[in-house]
Amino acid sequence: MADFKKIQSYIEEYRQKAIDLALKIWEYAEISFQEYQSAQAMKDLLMEEGFAIEENLAEIPTAFKAAFSVGTGRPVMGLLAEYDALDGLSQKKDSLVQTPIVPGGCGHGCGHNLLGAGCYLSAVALKKYLLDEKMDGTVILFGCPAEEGAGSKQFIARAGYFDDVDFVYCWHPGTMNEVSSKGSAAIMGANFIFDGVASHAGGAPHLGRSALDTAELMNIGCNYLREHIIDQARIHYAYSDAGGTAPNVVQSHAVIKYEVRAPKINQMQELFTRVVDVAKGAALMAGTRMKYEVTMAFSDYLPNKTLARVLDEALREAGAPQWTEEEYHLALQYLRTYSKSIQLSIRNDQMELNQYDAEKVNRIMNKPLDSTVHPFQDHAVTYESGSTDVGDVGYATPTVCLNIATACLGNIGHTWQNTAFSASSIGMKGMVKAAEVMMLAFIKTLERPELIKTAKDELRIKNGGRYNCPLSDYVKPPIGKY
Ligand SMILES: [Zn+2]
Repeated sequence: MADFKKIQSYIEEYRQKAIDLALKIWEYAEISFQEYQSAQAMKDLLMEEGFAIEENLAEIPTAFKAAFSVGTGRPVMGLLAEYDALDGLSQKKDSLVQTPIVPGGCGHGCGHNLLGAGCYLSAVALKKYLLDEKMDGTVILFGCPAEEGAGSKQFIARAGYFDDVDFVYCWHPGTMNEVSSKGSAAIMGANFIFDGVASHAGGAPHLGRSALDTAELMNIGCNYLREHIIDQARIHYAYSDAGGTAPNVVQSHAVIKYEVRAPKINQMQELFTRVVDVAKGAALMAGTRMKYEVTMAFSDYLPNKTLARVLDEALREAGAPQWTEEEYHLALQYLRTYSKSIQLSIRNDQMELNQYDAEKVNRIMNKPLDSTVHPFQDHAVTYESGSTDVGDVGYATPTVCLNIATACLGNIGHTWQNTAFSASSIGMKGMVKAAEVMMLAFIKTLERPELIKTAKDELRIKNGGRYNCPLSDYVKPPIGKY
């Protein structure tokens, strides 16, 4: 039987290496598809442990697969490591005010340095455990770049890398310790490109056909469309080419970037078709030509409930991270760096503190680090409006994601505060806990192989037996373009 104390001793052996790795990736702070040094640092450490490395997955230079097999090599277990940073979030680690290391530089404002290093820690400790215990299985760590950009997992899934994987446990740094029952929405992004006819806007306007007018008509059409879509759907746009800066030239070219989100992939695809129809109508009205190119898409994510129950069991057994008084104090100082109105919204909305009495709320707000474990609510699975490429893995193989606190309660993602937390002792402690919980869940699943079958049956109902990538084959990873 999986023994948590024993698992902790395996994790302990590699703990310092994982912390050093997390700090290294934090310092590299490389953005989407540019994570060369971060990926190399991970590959070097995995090779040291005898993992076989396959590089350039799905023609993405910073994507890789590291595998280690014991005995028959079955079942095959996957971990999803991310290591990309975010633009504009460079931050000194010990500063309580916004102080970039490099002005305008990149930083790990989503904690993907912890995410990647935590997966490394779980993978190498699990491999050692399998060897010592003579248990069959293959451990695969997938190096997945560009989660913050165009994503990579959907391309890796499309290339078939998850077809032979039996199940995946992954994690994301957060503010609470839970196997979340919240899913994320499907998304598709596309460039709408309009071509018109240039002309003198004063002297010969009747000869011009404006691409800019078309873009504006499309936006107006979509703004009306919003009234007739489901509540949880989202339509966003941004101009990437407004046709130039001269008002006296009828604009002959314009490009708008659109992103369409909806809870389920089929809802998203239906809505995207309606947006394309609006673009066609706009071009008809303005007498211009329209074409569009899909640039990115993620499937929706929902936790595989069978695996979620095992991961939840592992989390309860492992317990929340044990914070020190200094860490509580540091968390409080960071929480206070947010404006009063944000702090209030954190208190009232984000953390759902209304359910507690005033005394408990004050206690939590004065020691704002999650020190409890929140149970998985399998009857309350809902969608959030964010999106992730983990969704595509979840359509290819049974997958579930864990959240562990690596920042103060109420902390907001993609902020300089989050960059600072991702290099702090709070971040590291959360990362080690995540590695322990995932390792325990892997072993618990190995010990109950019937669960793997149930998890796969559950997936079959969702995907009809195979993964369908929301991106057509002609859409290549937009390396250097996104
Ligand atoms: Zn993230």
